[in-house]
Amino acid sequence: MSDIEEHRKKIEEITLEMIKLLKTRTGIAKQIGDAKANLGMTVTDEEREDALRSQVAKLCKEIDLDQSTASKFLNLLLNESVKVQSDNKQTHLSVFLKAKALEEEGKKIIHLEVGEPDFKPPKEVKTALEEVYDKGYGKYGSPKGITELRKALATRENLESAKGSEENIMICPGARFGVYLAITTLLNPGDEIIVIEPAWPAYKDCALNAGVKVRTIKTTLETEWEPSIEQINNAINENTKMIVINYPNNPTGKWWNPMVDKIINAAKEHDLYVLSDEIYEEYNRREAEVPPSCWDVMPYEKTIITKSFSKSHAMTGYRIGYVIAEPSIIEKMSKLQALSLTNVSEPIQYVALQALEADVSGNTEIINSRLEALIKIAKDIGLEFIEPDGAMYLFAKTKYKDFDATKFSEKLLEHGVAIAPGEGFGDYKEFFRITAIDETKLKEGMTILDTVLKESYG
Ligand code: PMP
Repeated sequence: MSDIEEHRKKIEEITLEMIKLLKTRTGIAKQIGDAKANLGMTVTDEEREDALRSQVAKLCKEIDLDQSTASKFLNLLLNESVKVQSDNKQTHLSVFLKAKALEEEGKKIIHLEVGEPDFKPPKEVKTALEEVYDKGYGKYGSPKGITELRKALATRENLESAKGSEENIMICPGARFGVYLAITTLLNPGDEIIVIEPAWPAYKDCALNAGVKVRTIKTTLETEWEPSIEQINNAINENTKMIVINYPNNPTGKWWNPMVDKIINAAKEHDLYVLSDEIYEEYNRREAEVPPSCWDVMPYEKTIITKSFSKSHAMTGYRIGYVIAEPSIIEKMSKLQALSLTNVSEPIQYVALQALEADVSGNTEIINSRLEALIKIAKDIGLEFIEPDGAMYLFAKTKYKDFDATKFSEKLLEHGVAIAPGEGFGDYKEFFRITAIDETKLKEGMTILDTVLKESYG
C-alpha cells in the first residue's frame, strides 16, 4: 500500500472512531440534560465551560496544536450538548401552542403570553391590498427588496443625512429573518456571539442553528437589567464576533442606558459586529429622553439594525421587516436571502410602502396606556419589577421564595390565563412576562393571576 493510501486509511479510522465517540457523548449529554431539568438547573454552566476551555488551551500547548481551531471545535461540541439539553425548556411559544390546543377544545383563554399587538393594521394597508393586483406587483425581484420601499425607508431612517442611502437597506420577511440572516451569514461555526439576558430566545436559537457558540451575560432586576462592562469584557475572547443588543427590550422593556455606549465601544475595540434589534422602537414611554436608534447613540460601521412592521404597524402576519447596515454587509446577507427566498413577496412590499404613509402614533399611545394600566395592577398585587421604558411587556417576579414561574404558568393555564415563563428568556425561573393587552381582558387575566398566586403561595 502506498504511503498516501496508508494515511487515508488512518484518517478514515480516526473519523469513524470520532463519530462513535460523538454518539456516546450525545447520549450522556441527554442524560445530564434530563437530570438538570429535574433539578431545575440551567443548561449552560459557563464556569464549567471556561474550565474546560482552559484545559483545551493547555493541551494545545502540550501537543503543539493551533488553539483557535481547537477552541472552535470545542464550541461545536458544547453547542451539540446545549441543543440536546434544550428540548425541555418552556417558552412563550410553547405556552401559546398549549393555550391554542385548549381553545380548540372549547376553553376560553386570556393570552398574556403572546408578543403581538391585538389591533388592526392601518387603513392604508386595506387600500393597498385592494389595489396591489392592478398595480402589477407580483413578479420575481431583487433579493434586497423593491427600490421604492428601500428608498422610502432610507428617508424614514434619515440615512441621507447620515451619508447613507437605500443601499444600506434590505427588506426581509420580518425582523426574525433579519436576525437569522445576520447570524448565519456573518458568523462561522465555532465563532462566539454575546447575548445579554433576559433575551428574546431567537438570538440563541439562530446561533445554535448556525453552530455559533452563545456567551450569555446575565443581568438582574437588582441592577436594573444593565450589564456591567466587566461582564462584557470577560465574555469577549478571540472567537467572539458579534454582540446582540435589543432596546426597548423584550422582555424587560428596558431602553438605552449608559451601558450601550460602552458596549458599542467594546465592540469597536475588538472589531465585533453589533446586532441591534430595534423592533420596539415605536413603543416607548420615554421618547423625548433617549436617542431613537443605535446609530444615534454611536455610529459604527459594523452595526446591523433589524426593524419591522410587525409591532409598529400591527402587521405581524404580513411578515415584513428590514435590515439597516453597511452595503457590504447587506450584500452578504442578501445572498442567503436570494438563495432561500428569491425575494420577499412583492405585493406585501407594496403594502408596506403604503403603510409608511400611515400615522401610527395612535398605536404607541394605546400600548403606553395599557402598559400604565399593567404597571398599576402589578404594583397593586405586589409583583416585583422595573417599570418598562418601552416595548409591550412587564417582566416580573413575586415576593414568594422558591417561586417557580414555569410550574405557576402551567397552573395558571388550567385557570384560563397564559403567561410567558421566564426560563424562555434565560436563567430566570422565578420571573414571568406579561403582555400589555386590551385593558378589560388584562384586568380579568391579572385578577385570576392574583387569585391563583395567593391560593398557591399565599
Ligand atoms: N425581535 C424581538 C425582540 C421580538 O420580540 C420579535 C417578535 N416577538 C421579533 C424580533 C420578530 O419580529 P418579526 O415579526 O418582525 O419577525
